[in-house]
Amino acid sequence: MNDMEAFIRRLPKAELHLHLEGTILPATLVELSQRHDASPLTLAEAEKIYQFTDFSGFMDAFRAITRLLTGPEDYELAAWRMCQRLVEQGVVHAEVYISVGVIYHWREHAEGVVEPIFAGLERARQRAERELGLSLYWIFDAVRHFTVPEAERVFLKAAELRPAHPSIIGIGLGGDERQRGSEPFHEMYAEAAKAGLRLTNHAGETTPASAIWEALSIGSERIGHALSAVEDESLLDELKARHIPLELNPTSNVRTGVCPSFAAHPLRRYFDAGLLVTLNSDDPAFFGSDIANEYLLAHTEQGFTREELRQLAANSFAASFLPESEKAHRLAQIASIK
Ligand SMILES: [Zn+2]
Repeated sequence: MNDMEAFIRRLPKAELHLHLEGTILPATLVELSQRHDASPLTLAEAEKIYQFTDFSGFMDAFRAITRLLTGPEDYELAAWRMCQRLVEQGVVHAEVYISVGVIYHWREHAEGVVEPIFAGLERARQRAERELGLSLYWIFDAVRHFTVPEAERVFLKAAELRPAHPSIIGIGLGGDERQRGSEPFHEMYAEAAKAGLRLTNHAGETTPASAIWEALSIGSERIGHALSAVEDESLLDELKARHIPLELNPTSNVRTGVCPSFAAHPLRRYFDAGLLVTLNSDDPAFFGSDIANEYLLAHTEQGFTREELRQLAANSFAASFLPESEKAHRLAQIASIK
């Protein structure tokens, strides 16, 4: 490990855009397949699932992997492995998307299916807090290209479970933006906010800047990807004026073919413009990267200095949904890292 890599590990970091399902490595997939399939996947077969070249291929891979997450124990195993990997990289806090939309979509008798799975996730979270010192929030993610009532079901479940489970911090919308934007979810977002849930949204990943305006118009507090904001100066001004955090995922965008290279990603442009940018890994097992590697690539591909990487780490806490006192504690810690 070189000096810069060691510095990145030492920096306390928050990861704000991470899908549990996207952290499952091929070896874990084989383990899950052995639990559920009559003829289990070999490691080579599992690795092949992760080899895609565009956004549609990525969606297919995501589907193949979530198919093997059937019971609470599967989710618990996946979450625990994810926590171990986060801590190895110096992540001290994560806000993790759970595709509750997928949990509902593939089960015919959906009533009561989320609670036991969520209990498995909570066991992993509490263990990680106790044994690894990692704090974790969950974001219930709906799939925008499934039906609108399916998304509503996800958000209502988040609102119902939150009072007893404050680790459910918010909701989000993922899936294929080309098929459905944000406006159909306007009222549901307002209802979720009333229930105390924070509002995130994937926008401008595979769609123009107008999709980001639409996401803002329904009250989204954080924008995932925001790749196309670079096309619209007035949108950049708006994002800056309102301190809207952007959850950027450069390697993800390169691997799904929506950005030509890490060097070409607007991360640097947004950072220099004073936007509240955060660096994240999205689906690290799918994209062959992780959060520490994204920081390293920011240095090697876009010339981020130590002090600028420190700022990115500070941004990750500023943009988090942690209480203000906890943010202040982490910011002081980051400032003192040599
Ligand atoms: Zn995502």
